[in-house]
Amino acid sequence: MTDLWDGEWSGGACAHYTRKMTQTTAPVGVTFAEISAKVAKGARIGQDDARWLWLNASDSELSSLAASVRRRFHAPGSCTYMVMRIINYTNVCVAQCDYCAFYKLPGVDGGYVLSQEAVFAKLDELLEMGGDLAAFNGGFNPHLPLSYYCELFSAIRARYGDALEFYALTIAEFMYLADHAKLSHAQAAERLKDAGVRWITGGGSEILTEDFRARHSKFKYTVAQYFEAQRAIVDAGLKTTATMVIGFDESIDERLEHLERTRQFQDQTGGLASFLCWTFKPYFTQIGGIEITTAEYLRHLALCRIYLDNIPRIRTSVLTQNQQALEGLNYGADDFDLPIEDEVTQKAGATISLDFDRILGYARELGYSPAYRHVSLGTPPWNMGS
Ligand code: SF4
Repeated sequence: MTDLWDGEWSGGACAHYTRKMTQTTAPVGVTFAEISAKVAKGARIGQDDARWLWLNASDSELSSLAASVRRRFHAPGSCTYMVMRIINYTNVCVAQCDYCAFYKLPGVDGGYVLSQEAVFAKLDELLEMGGDLAAFNGGFNPHLPLSYYCELFSAIRARYGDALEFYALTIAEFMYLADHAKLSHAQAAERLKDAGVRWITGGGSEILTEDFRARHSKFKYTVAQYFEAQRAIVDAGLKTTATMVIGFDESIDERLEHLERTRQFQDQTGGLASFLCWTFKPYFTQIGGIEITTAEYLRHLALCRIYLDNIPRIRTSVLTQNQQALEGLNYGADDFDLPIEDEVTQKAGATISLDFDRILGYARELGYSPAYRHVSLGTPPWNMGS
């Protein structure tokens, strides 16, 4: 075993913890040329190969290997983007994840729930700014019944039709909602579908290992429950996505386990329309810490593209990496959001720029031609969802 990184720092007012990136030694005798030849033949890499790449491959080697997998699905120089708004409809939450700077426990000052009128005002502003995708993300609020969600989503569909699309909840919120309403995941999915919902996204997954969940988020869900719920969503005919967040205290092996579970789920269901990885913002959180570098994010993004050979759309995170996220297009990504609001990450230190021309200009400087992607329209060329 090799300790690659063993740091200790103070983060935030009271957070103080040790982060260990403990990793196993790379397999003896493996070379980049061997792994590269495997990928060129269209064969899959396993966790040992991925670990070897992470520990030994140069940035340019990772970038070129990721680009070769990207070319299976996308023309070089092509990429897509959306203008979107995350609507944090409530910040009241009982899950108490230690990496979250957003939530308020029930009864605590500062807790809120948005009315339908307040949501409509945010959606109207989104349309005025040229966006047409909203993503709902809130807390596990014990005071919100299923009817709040169904009435809200029905009203949005009735008011806007197909002029905008919305991601209704993350899987984590969906699980809490079903549990709270004493419904099975299948029943809850049908109720939301009847209310006009088309998407329940894979947000709230962070790192999908049982150890990570127990360390940081023990009241949220188990990994087995997460995938059981996502399968119910797919079976109900709803669309879904995969996400991941890195930069907590997770090891490389935990990152690879997350990727392996995601790849297996996609093999079994074909239901994942995209994969998005972003980076943890530590400010004002209980665990604190410091952010990982963009260079580390880009290397990981390349690994995601190479490993997730069954998910054509790999997305890079402008929300947490700003303009530098577009360098992810050179590390296997093909798609990104231009967000106008997300209180969850902004409370933890994310900064949002509305200078879309500058950000899109940077994509062009890098040699890409960004094209707007409407979630509500059509299916992509690879015919795996939109
Ligand atoms: S991350 Fe989500 S589920 Fe966890 S405490 Fe924050 S709002 Fe609640």
